[in-house]
Amino acid sequence: MKLDTFNKMTEPFKPTPLMPVLFLGHGSPMNAIEDNEFVQGFKRIALQIPKPNAILCISAHWETRGTYVTAMENPPTIHDFGGFPKALFEVQYPAPGSPDLAKETQSLIHKADIKLDDKWGLDHGAWSVIKHLYPDADIPVVQMSLDYFQNPLYHYELARELQSLRQKGVLIIGSGNMVHNLGMVEWKRLNETYGFDWAMEANDKMKQFILNDDHPSLIHFSKQGKAFQMAIPSAEHYLPLLYALALKNPNEPVAFFNDKPVAGSLTMTSVKIG
Ligand code: ZN
Repeated sequence: MKLDTFNKMTEPFKPTPLMPVLFLGHGSPMNAIEDNEFVQGFKRIALQIPKPNAILCISAHWETRGTYVTAMENPPTIHDFGGFPKALFEVQYPAPGSPDLAKETQSLIHKADIKLDDKWGLDHGAWSVIKHLYPDADIPVVQMSLDYFQNPLYHYELARELQSLRQKGVLIIGSGNMVHNLGMVEWKRLNETYGFDWAMEANDKMKQFILNDDHPSLIHFSKQGKAFQMAIPSAEHYLPLLYALALKNPNEPVAFFNDKPVAGSLTMTSVKIG
């Protein structure tokens, strides 16, 4: 192998200090093209962490049977929503992929037989937020899917196997929403920051569990009562939080940002670990 090829291949995986881990509450796809307090929060957080060599994003919006990682050189921007303005459909986020990071991720995980994907790309769970962190689209992004058929503990344990990527300059981002009940969203008030009582209760309890490193209670969210049931009617927006928390070391600091509800039944609460 020629040396320049070798360097190119291994460049994203040089040893680095431990990278932080993020959980980003992405909310409405409109956050991609608006400038609001949440967008400002995404921009601020990017300034507080070292520039990564690559990003591995676990998005609520890619559910599969089995687990996949995107392995193409140039992932397309996927507009996986309907009923939004044309301007949103015109957004492109041309970050490169990283077949090497995809293969590295595949080799790290033993809990599942990770498959390489060449059909997906970047869905709005990834690009609508990452574009605010890294507007130049100059950092390679790989997505990992959520296996729809597995339970929360399985996801948590799978995520733990990604730990060593944090020491290779890889920023791991879970993108979802801690409280996410679309059926109860007051759509006409999408720009208003207020939450129903149960949404605030669930959000506060989740934060407390996070601060206490009480991950078992978060994994077994279905046993946490009515507010949690309302907050998590389906798990796909919540599971990316478990991916982020699984990568936390016991003594690492945790910081919350964008910690506000929207339209009654969503919270934008985001977490920085490390
Ligand atoms: Zn979403």
